[in-house]
Amino acid sequence: KKQMSELVAFGSRHIGRGIARMSEIAWERGEGSWMHSADGKKYLDFTCGIGVTNLGHCHPKITKAAQHQCGQVVHAQCNVGYHGPQLQLMEKLLPVMPHKSLDTFLFVNSGSEAVESAIKLARHSTKKQNVVVMQGGFHGRTIATASMTRSKTIYSAGFGPMMSGVFTTPFPYEYHYNLSRAAQGNKSDDACADEALWQLRLLLKQQTAPSDTAAIILEPVLGEGGYVPAPKKYMQGLRKICDEHKILLIIDEVQSGFGRTGTYFAIEQYDVRPDILVMAKGIANGFPLAGIVSRKEIMDSQTPGSMGGTYSGNAVACAAAVACADVMREEKILQNVKARGDQMRAGLERIRKDSNVGPLIGDVRGLGLMLGLEFARTAPTGISSRVQQNCIRNGLLILTTSVFETLRFIPPLTISDEEMSHGLEIFEKSLHEAAT
Ligand code: PMP
Repeated sequence: KKQMSELVAFGSRHIGRGIARMSEIAWERGEGSWMHSADGKKYLDFTCGIGVTNLGHCHPKITKAAQHQCGQVVHAQCNVGYHGPQLQLMEKLLPVMPHKSLDTFLFVNSGSEAVESAIKLARHSTKKQNVVVMQGGFHGRTIATASMTRSKTIYSAGFGPMMSGVFTTPFPYEYHYNLSRAAQGNKSDDACADEALWQLRLLLKQQTAPSDTAAIILEPVLGEGGYVPAPKKYMQGLRKICDEHKILLIIDEVQSGFGRTGTYFAIEQYDVRPDILVMAKGIANGFPLAGIVSRKEIMDSQTPGSMGGTYSGNAVACAAAVACADVMREEKILQNVKARGDQMRAGLERIRKDSNVGPLIGDVRGLGLMLGLEFARTAPTGISSRVQQNCIRNGLLILTTSVFETLRFIPPLTISDEEMSHGLEIFEKSLHEAAT
């Protein structure tokens, strides 16, 4: 049997460069909030595999449910018949949907596939074609979803032609808006949302007519675009515009869903009804599962056989997702997100007051345990990657995001008070190291 270090050397030669990697660490196992490397080190995980293993690594209850299902049936293809775990999963999900009209599901394997399905559904059911996306939005890497992704050009550069009929509207990014406004001495709470809504109304007058526009899609908290929550006023304005023009509102909660922001879905905090909700990542704590949910009349406008795929709603992944829903309830996860989210925000705000490193920090924002920290424009270029690498060296896994100098904090939703304090200490230390 080869040593892990030999395998890594082999792997680094044979894995294509299209997959980026923030470290060369080889993992042996994960447990709760921790990842253990093959060379015997342990790391506190503030990445959750990019917002996936929200209930901690290898949660015993989820592992047990998946193991049991492996001995029952692994693949019971959805075009052939039903299997229990998918039926049970819908029973678990229905009561936690952010609006009672969201009652009909489609399960697929990845966030991108789910977004593609949402777009197909919107086009087919409205008989319109165009889609409006947000500046900074991220929806995936397939051709259609890369066509709709606006967080970085790497997702589309060289891969064209992209899907046509995609229009981009500004996202209400309050920190950036206020930076420019502050320079002009004009700052008000609603101004950013009002301006973005104005721009959207213009887009619908100048570029894509409502009669051609099937859907507007957005993440309530911009993810890969910088961890920026949309203001409530904007979301409510968006709903109004969609209602006025019979445009479907698609809420992409691939990253923000399943408790991450302190409510089951972030959109609950906006009092806004989605027409289609997109789910993935946290739904099954690491098993490949994603889905969309919408109103029955919209979902039933589809031709049988036109949606889904071979592995849609895999039985083992669905069994894991059922266990996740139970853990969310039994372990009062949302309460922990609120408490630990407050602790994390207070910790970051305290660091911001430090006279040495504080001035490096421009903005701390987010909801629940989905916080972003953007460095000030005066901070040195590359600061976010330097802090990230220092954190890794000091035993904390953390992610950068967006084209701005930004870090994202997405610890497990099950994290303890002590683990959170420990993570904040490592971050503070790593920030000081980067500043000197
Ligand atoms: N939408 C959002 C908001 C995401 O964050 C992601 C993944 N980062 C996707 C869609 C795409 O999901 P996947 O990588 O599973 O295809």
